[in-house]
Amino acid sequence: MKNKCENCGECCLRTEMILSESDINRIMKNSTKNLQKNDFVFKNRDGFFQLKNNEDHCIFLDSLSKECKIYEYRPQGCRFYPLIYNFQENNCIYDNDCPRPHLFYQDETELKETCEDLSRFLKQELGLQ
Ligand code: SF4
Ligand code: SF4
Repeated sequence: MKNKCENCGECCLRTEMILSESDINRIMKNSTKNLQKNDFVFKNRDGFFQLKNNEDHCIFLDSLSKECKIYEYRPQGCRFYPLIYNFQENNCIYDNDCPRPHLFYQDETELKETCEDLSRFLKQELGLQ
């Protein structure tokens, strides 16, 4: 499968994706729609910026094609996905919601480096860990 995510979009349904300030600024800078922060972001109960949903899917998901409308400048967390951080074990795991996890990060080195990038992102840009 050339595009691993073809006809899926599962991870963009009822998204709870957290955004960094850099994510928000990149999306506003690149959007041709003069987007304001409040158009696509809200502050969740834990105080983190979170992507808004439109009905049952991310505001940026094209529900017909199941493609991300901001793919080139999508949030960092969407780029790491389906790799997520397991805070209990301090390691990276594949999220159960992705039906095709085996297609991602097949190379051991790439997997290790992406996990390090994810860990760094959480610490430096979201203040987690
Ligand atoms: S990352 Fe997984 S869940 Fe998300 S669109 Fe791709 S295959 Fe589907
Ligand atoms: S920004 Fe794009 S990839 Fe991320 S949840 Fe929304 S539609 Fe999916």
